[in-house]
Amino acid sequence: MAETIYTMGVDVGSTASKGVILKDGREIVANSVIDVGAGTSGPSRAISEVLEKAGLKIEDIDFITATGYGRNSLEEADFQMSELSCHAKGAYFLFPRVHTIIDIGGQDAKALKIGEGGVLENFVMNDKCAAGTGRFLDVIARVLEVDVSDLEKLDSKSDKDVTISSTCTVFAESEVISQLAQGTKIEDIVRGIHSAIASRVGSLAKRVGIKDDVIMTGGVALNGGMVRALEKNIGHKIYTSPYCQLNGALGAAIFAYQKIQNNMRRAAAK
Ligand code: ADP
Repeated sequence: MAETIYTMGVDVGSTASKGVILKDGREIVANSVIDVGAGTSGPSRAISEVLEKAGLKIEDIDFITATGYGRNSLEEADFQMSELSCHAKGAYFLFPRVHTIIDIGGQDAKALKIGEGGVLENFVMNDKCAAGTGRFLDVIARVLEVDVSDLEKLDSKSDKDVTISSTCTVFAESEVISQLAQGTKIEDIVRGIHSAIASRVGSLAKRVGIKDDVIMTGGVALNGGMVRALEKNIGHKIYTSPYCQLNGALGAAIFAYQKIQNNMRRAAAK
C-alpha cells in the first residue's frame, strides 16, 4: 500500500495566520486560524495548533508551502507561492465551477478571473487603501463596540438604509460617530457600512469581469451580511464555504502535494 502523504499550507496573512494539513492531496485533516498575522507569533502558533489537531509532528509533514503577505519570513516552509495562485487553487478544489473569486482579507481586496481547470487568468487588487478591506470593518466594529463576528446578525436586523458616503476609513469612522450621536441604530449603520464596502469591492469585480460561479474567500466572507451586500451589488449569487478564510492555506497545501508528486515522478523517471 502506498505511503500516506501529509502536506501543510500556511497562510501568513496581514491580520491572521492560517494552517491546513492535507492527506494525500485530497482530505483536509485539520486547520487552524490565529488572529494575528505576519511579524507576530501567529504563524508558528498556527503551525503548532494545526499539528496538534491532526495528532501529527512537524517531521510527519512531507512538504510545507507558505503563502500570504508574510510568506517569505516563514522558516519552516520548503517553498513559497503567491496568494493569488493559492486562492485560485483552493477555490477550484472547493468549487470546481468557479470562474470569479472575490477575496477580502485584513488589508486588501482582490477579484480573480478563473479559467477552465482553475487556471488564474487575470486579477484586480486594492492594497492601497483600507476602505473596502477587513481593516475597515475592524475599525468600525471597534467604534460600535461590537465584535466583527457580530456584524452579520446586526445587519440582519436593519430596517432602514443609511448611506455612509466617505470613501476613506478615517472619515467614515467620523461619519459613523456622528450617526451614532444623531441616534441612528447600530444595525442600520452596519448595513450602511456593508453597502459601502460592497460598492468598492463590487467595482473591482466588475473590472475583472464577473462570470458564474462566484466564490467569496478571505476572513470577511465569514460575515454573511457582507456576502449579501456584495450579491446585491454585483447581481450574482455568491458561494462561500466554512473554509473561506483558510482558502489560501488550502491552496498552498495542494501545491505542496503537487510538488511531492512531481518530485516522485522525476525520481521514477531517472
Ligand atoms: P489576511 O489573510 O489579510 O490576514 P483574512 O483573510 O484572514 O486576512 O481576513 C481577516 C479579516 O477577516 C479581519 O480583518 C476581519 O475583518 C475578518 N474576520 C475574521 N474573522 C471574522 C468573523 N468570525 N466574522 C466576520 N469577519 C471576520
